[in-house]
Amino acid sequence: MTNPDCLFCKFVNAQLPVSLVGQNSGAIAFNDINPKAPTHILVIPKIHVKNLAELSVHSAELQSVMLLIDEIAKSKQLANGYRVVFNTGAAAGQSVFHAHAHVLGGRSMQWPPG
Ligand code: 5GP
Ligand code: ZN
Repeated sequence: MTNPDCLFCKFVNAQLPVSLVGQNSGAIAFNDINPKAPTHILVIPKIHVKNLAELSVHSAELQSVMLLIDEIAKSKQLANGYRVVFNTGAAAGQSVFHAHAHVLGGRSMQWPPG
């Protein structure tokens, strides 16, 4: 499941270079190009699904994403707290339509988010 027009699929398939900060059988992680926190990592499934709803029916890949988020939180020492965001839909700020989790940490967070 890949989409030839998708930027994140090109990272998964190594058609474009990206510096990985972690990976497992079903997901990869890399630094966001425009970080909104001292730690801002994107965790994406290796399959092309456009959002969390589509990812949710792929149990193995969903679990891969969640396990990699946990691994990153531990390796980046985010024990004081971190935020995981799945922007879903343009009105929520989604701009890349390959499902991805933002993992944000290293600073205090406001609630509610803007
Ligand atoms: P969204 O707005 O869809 O929730 O998140 C997309 C994220 O992808 C944004 O935070 C944006 O900075 C990041 N992004 C867009 N293009 C690239 C890129 O070429 N490389 C990396 N590392 N991140 C990107
Ligand atoms: Zn894709």
